[in-house]
Amino acid sequence: YYNENTILYFNGEYLKATEAKIDLYGQSLHYGYAVFEGIRAYKTESGEVKIFKAKEHFDRFKRSCELIHMPYEFNNDELIAACYKVLELNNMTEAYIRPLAICPPNMTLKAAEETHVLICAWEWGAYLGEKLLRVMLSSYQRPNPKAFKIESKSAGLYVNSILASQEAKSKGFDEALLLDIEGFVAEGPGANLFYEKDGTIYTPAPGNILPGITRATVIEICHELGIPLVEKQITVAELEQADAVFYCGTAAEVVGWDSFNNKGFAKPWAQSLGKVIQQAYKAKVLEKEFDRAAIPA
Ligand code: PMP
Repeated sequence: YYNENTILYFNGEYLKATEAKIDLYGQSLHYGYAVFEGIRAYKTESGEVKIFKAKEHFDRFKRSCELIHMPYEFNNDELIAACYKVLELNNMTEAYIRPLAICPPNMTLKAAEETHVLICAWEWGAYLGEKLLRVMLSSYQRPNPKAFKIESKSAGLYVNSILASQEAKSKGFDEALLLDIEGFVAEGPGANLFYEKDGTIYTPAPGNILPGITRATVIEICHELGIPLVEKQITVAELEQADAVFYCGTAAEVVGWDSFNNKGFAKPWAQSLGKVIQQAYKAKVLEKEFDRAAIPA
């Protein structure tokens, strides 16, 4: 992720990653009381480096902090400019950008009085790989919305994601699917879910999921391409009957499923609407024209 030349942003300064320091006596480290974002920059068709949906990511960063009472006194345009500066200082054109909000030293369970921001970046290929995913139903649920602000992209929540990923990998799968506390389909450890059935695309309604920026982009693409889209509560039985399924997220982008609990789907991925959406997504992030003729009849 970094070497002796890597530069990061911390609290208004640009520092060497090997020299930047944080205090070890803090709530962020001890209690997972921190907020982060995951953003990607692409070298677009024109050659210009662009951070995809930077405003949306920093709006969520702010909302995530406010939801868990971390004071947010930052100007998002300045933080976005800092992201571009970090890319420039590290000579990066395609990169994953990680803003992290942490608290100064304090070992109590009181809400933070101050927030510090780190922004670092590294080159990261497709997070879940290029291959279709073999997914299993996790024995872990997504956290209860009454126990946590689940729409806040908070660090502590990600122990749940690590447990679900580890379980899936230990059983020979690529990835997990988690249900919500009511037993409906929620999301993956780091991605939102969509499936296709009879020409319509379905996705879990907000409430028990992270409101993904990629999810919003996929919805936007469906509207642009005239693909019918429904947001609703989804049962496991409905998902098992899907024609095709995919996950999406900033790190993972759009990635199709090979199977769910070792059972395949009716449509080959290459002929699915998900494949079209995957290409449209790629075109969008690269600011390329997208050929609508690619939509299967
Ligand atoms: N759900 C979870 C639990 C995630 O961690 C992520 C990744 N941030 C997503 C969904 C997808 O969100 P986004 O498209 O904003 O990256």
